[in-house]
Amino acid sequence: MSEVHVVVLGGGPAGCGAAYQLRREGKAKVTLIEQSQMLGGNSGSFEVAGQFLDFGSHRLHSACDPDILKDIKQMLGDDLAHRDRHGRIRLRGKWLHFPLKTTDLLMRLDKAFAFGAAWDVIKRTLFGKDKEGDTFASVLQANLGRTICDHFYFPYSRKLWGHEPDKLSGIQAHKRVSAGSISKILKRLAKPPGAGKFYYPRKGYGQISEVYAQEGKKLGADIKMGWSASKVVQLPEGGFKIELTNKDGELQTLKADHIWSTIPVTILSKMIDPPVPSEVLAAAEKITYRSMVLVYLVLPVDQWTTTDAHYFPEANIHMTRISEPKNYFGLSEPKKTTIVCAELPCKGGDDIWNMSDEELGQLIMKDMETAELPVHQPLKVFSKRLPQAYPIYTMGYEHDLEAMDNWIDAIPNLLIYGRQGFFAHDNTHHALYMAYSAVNCLDNEGNFNHQRWLDYRKIFATHVVED
Ligand SMILES: Cc1cc2nc3c(=O)[nH]c(=O)nc-3n(C[C@H](O)[C@H](O)[C@H](O)COP(=O)(O)OP(=O)(O)OC[C@H]3O[C@@H](n4cnc5c(N)ncnc54)[C@H](O)[C@@H]3O)c2cc1C
Repeated sequence: MSEVHVVVLGGGPAGCGAAYQLRREGKAKVTLIEQSQMLGGNSGSFEVAGQFLDFGSHRLHSACDPDILKDIKQMLGDDLAHRDRHGRIRLRGKWLHFPLKTTDLLMRLDKAFAFGAAWDVIKRTLFGKDKEGDTFASVLQANLGRTICDHFYFPYSRKLWGHEPDKLSGIQAHKRVSAGSISKILKRLAKPPGAGKFYYPRKGYGQISEVYAQEGKKLGADIKMGWSASKVVQLPEGGFKIELTNKDGELQTLKADHIWSTIPVTILSKMIDPPVPSEVLAAAEKITYRSMVLVYLVLPVDQWTTTDAHYFPEANIHMTRISEPKNYFGLSEPKKTTIVCAELPCKGGDDIWNMSDEELGQLIMKDMETAELPVHQPLKVFSKRLPQAYPIYTMGYEHDLEAMDNWIDAIPNLLIYGRQGFFAHDNTHHALYMAYSAVNCLDNEGNFNHQRWLDYRKIFATHVVED
């Protein structure tokens, strides 16, 4: 077996998937470095009062690569449920099933909205499609028409990314809006992806990353938690020295033949020695993420609603989504309490980011009232903060990203991938697919096939997010 040492930075699905797969194929000695005390990154879970909670609504989509899904099923066994989705969207004061259902749309949708959307389709058929242009606004308007954009996508995108739709890149529309045209919406109505079902683990979504790490560990991977990579030094003889620090300020160093980084590329670019050139660093500074505050309300009822997740595209409600984790696996325990999780996208350091738990609880209860949802006095409110929730694709971001990507790509044996590594709007199954692909590029002698990786990257570029 090859004696090369791969150090994987980050213990989200991309990192844990690689640690497992590298060990399973016996291709390298593996050390995984995770800064926090839990695995899963944004896809992690934690337990409060007997309930497993995620960082916002997470589901494993059926679009997952079949070989990866097979591994997950094998590792989780009975702990993986395959369930029908029960979501709903609040649009113009009405609830619509999500994923959309034709009957629901016809029966329940506000007539002015329905006529507007129908007229957009007729106009397009008679007079042809508008020019797509290159902004999020122009791409979506050309494909979906004004009505759906004005009432659904534009207000939603202002909340999600904090920018006007014409200040965002058209790439965001192609990547993020999986039903990118009226015909695609109709196709998805006739045949919902994954037959409207999803996979979900008994102990929260983070159980997926946990089992990957556990199995990787059994096969010999070293999983170091509570250590943050703080410096990556390129050695003259090849390979790297990595400096790690923990919360007590202790320092450790590690040597690696390969580094596979899944941590935010903006953070990685600042820790490399010799340092990145100033123009590349300047490009890195322009890359920004949308943050998110997650507000958890512990409610004194068995079940709050029978819905998994309620979506709020419109501006009159602050949160974008609220979910009830107990419903995801269909749990009835514990009794007399359920916890709901509201998602508030924001800018790190803004008013929402700095709100106290009490203020956040009040804001969400007000939102619940506005949306005509059941309101109960919570037993407790607590919050979590995600600094890097969504990549923001502002106009021209791709040039800054490319400058950084090209520079890192030229460093032998330093690989970036995963949602934070690629600054991509990816799902968990995409992050895992990247991890398995990276392992496919490493041969048994420890050589990385860069050309094969570039071919994989063309596949990654076609990934579209499932909501
Ligand atoms: C609100 C929300 C809802 C989502 N819903 C879904 C869904 O329903 N289905 C789905 O498939 N996907 C969903 N996603 C996307 C999913 O969370 C990501 O695709 C997935 O977590 C990406 O995995 P990753 O390993 O690439 O990155 P991450 O999960 O971000 O993991 C990166 C890891 O790197 C660690 N790290 C960072 N810096 C350092 C450092 N210096 N040293 C060591 N470690 C470091 C972090 O602590 C983290 O654990 C959602 C995302 C969000 C924000």
